[in-house]
Amino acid sequence: MVTKICACCGEPFVARPQVPNQAFCTNPACQRERRQQWQRKKLLDDPFYRENQQDAQRAWRTRNPDYSRHYRAVNPEYTQKNREQQRSRSQEGQALEKQTSDVSTTPNEIPPGIYRIRHIQADANCKTDVWIVEIRPVKCDCFCKIDACKDRT
Ligand SMILES: [Zn+2]
Repeated sequence: MVTKICACCGEPFVARPQVPNQAFCTNPACQRERRQQWQRKKLLDDPFYRENQQDAQRAWRTRNPDYSRHYRAVNPEYTQKNREQQRSRSQEGQALEKQTSDVSTTPNEIPPGIYRIRHIQADANCKTDVWIVEIRPVKCDCFCKIDACKDRT
């Protein structure tokens, strides 16, 4: 039995003998991270995969020609923002800030994903100073919403 430390959540887990070089535990969030890392690496390393992905996106846009037009009509600030973004892309820092607001998010929205959170004030008694959290949008049909309401009252 081989115990390893998960590359995502940092928790120990028992590696499965049939999976060589297993670096992630079976936690769904960690598995999602593993798949995303795999895809990012694949996009960098494999020109055929990259081309395939681009073709798939292009094909999707061809099948949904109204999407971009409709999106811009409904979100006129996007077109404006996009122009501003292109203008300031050379200015470091600013460009970085703007990158966080992409097509699918509004400026104050945090994109869903895995984040590390950390106490600003260092606590000497605390052994772990970093937590891994998953941020997901709250939907009407999601039980999380009920929890959020409970918290507020
Ligand atoms: Zn994990």
